Amino acid sequence: MDAGNNDTHTHVLDFNGFCNLCDKHMRSTKAVVGHQNIVHQGAKIKCTVCGRRFDNKAELSDHMDRPHR
Ligand SMILES: [Zn+2]
Ligand SMILES: [Zn+2]
Repeated sequence: MDAGNNDTHTHVLDFNGFCNLCDKHMRSTKAVVGHQNIVHQGAKIKCTVCGRRFDNKAELSDHMDRPHR
């Protein structure tokens, strides 16, 4: 086994690495965009509280203004 490969990616990105729609881990923002185009066509934003999906952030924040029960 060659253990010399671990130093090539020492830079740290602010990007948290997770798709906001399915929490799948990706290597870059670009990878997430590509992933969302393929896996989540017409990507919808998911409410993290109740799991409902919305077409855009405005709808989600409107939804978030209401109490979850
Ligand atoms: Zn995803
Ligand atoms: Zn909700």
